[in-house]
Amino acid sequence: MLPLMVDDPEVGALVDREKTRLQETINLIAAENQCPSSILEAQGSVYALKAAEGYPGHRFHAGCIHTDSLEQLAVARCRHLFGADHANVQPHSGVAANLSVYFAMLDIGDRVLSMKLSHGGHLSHGASASMTSRCFQFRHYGVAPDTERIDYSGVAALAEEWRPKMIVAGASSYPRLIDYQRLADIAAGVSAYFMVDMAHLAGLVAAGAIPSPVPHADFVTFTTYKTLMGGRGGVILCKKPYAAPIDRSVFPGCQGTPAINMIAAKAVCFHLAANAAFRAIQHQTLANARCMAEEFAGRGYRIVSGGTDNHLVLIDLRPMGLTGDEAEKRLEAVGLIVNRNPIPNDRYDPQTAGGLRLGTPAITVRGMQETEVKRIVDWIDAILKDPNDPKIIPKIRDAIAELCRHFPHPMVP
Ligand SMILES: *Cc1c(COP(=O)(O)O)cnc(C)c1O
Repeated sequence: MLPLMVDDPEVGALVDREKTRLQETINLIAAENQCPSSILEAQGSVYALKAAEGYPGHRFHAGCIHTDSLEQLAVARCRHLFGADHANVQPHSGVAANLSVYFAMLDIGDRVLSMKLSHGGHLSHGASASMTSRCFQFRHYGVAPDTERIDYSGVAALAEEWRPKMIVAGASSYPRLIDYQRLADIAAGVSAYFMVDMAHLAGLVAAGAIPSPVPHADFVTFTTYKTLMGGRGGVILCKKPYAAPIDRSVFPGCQGTPAINMIAAKAVCFHLAANAAFRAIQHQTLANARCMAEEFAGRGYRIVSGGTDNHLVLIDLRPMGLTGDEAEKRLEAVGLIVNRNPIPNDRYDPQTAGGLRLGTPAITVRGMQETEVKRIVDWIDAILKDPNDPKIIPKIRDAIAELCRHFPHPMVP
């Protein structure tokens, strides 16, 4: 029984280097977050070893006495946190959760209406590169060109014309609130199922910081590692009548043995997300994002949709003659970790992209507030506007290193 550094110094060293990278850079990737070390501990626990096909009380392996208690605890906590009729905590990831819902409720070739990838949707919502588009017929709605908010009357018209069996809401780069009731009404009007993928938003929803889709949707899927701060994994919530087909679709339909260690981590995550400290982080995440959008707008940047209601800000770099790819590389060189992102109706391909997506979850967990957000915006602004000034880069790099030392990651063990 040797520690990792002794058993495999090569991997051990890479783990150490990643810890240092996390401590010495500022993470503005909207899809990432830190998680408490108790969650990493649960992920690394002996439950990583247990084979437990099936569900509590109905397993295909023996020795599940504690595993059953654990999964039941995770399910009960999850239902309570989100006010859901039913929860399945076995999906390995967000995409796995989405596939399980599709295969539970749709037949091959059925029609689905979802948000366009290039307007902020997700690959697993029927993008051409995703196998979802080979199994089902997807058509996509998008944002209105003037407001850059979801074109709800466009959704209604498409639903009337296309008669989908399911309407999917949810996005990975949409900075505004989604009117779930309106989409639920559109779905009901054409007798379609209504599914919401709240992967990015689950933590904000759990904290009550933004409205929940759970009362409005037949199915809600999410990942646990984004705003929810729970480590990797996926979850499905659904209304009571769909509990049995959803469970059958996850196992044996789409997956084999669940990762019980990850279910242990999910149980811890749902427990911690019910605390006041978690709610405070989520509210500050929103305040930091709002501040970031205002600060960029004040420096002349075009913010997609004019601002934000959630944890992310989408900046259109095209007016500056800059691509997202170039901006991402310049910022990484000084320790600011962001990601390039297409802007609605972008003429660049997604690898190049005309914009940047910036998120505030990970800096907020470090304790950063509006004062720090303003400094970060100043640095980004200086680097994007004047990348060739030889004096600026080392000065900013030093300032970032100092800020990072001042706000160590509380959760990197
Ligand atoms: C991040 C994300 C997912 C992906 O989840 P994985 O865990 O990477 O499979 C799914 N849907 C949306 C909207 C997302 O933002």
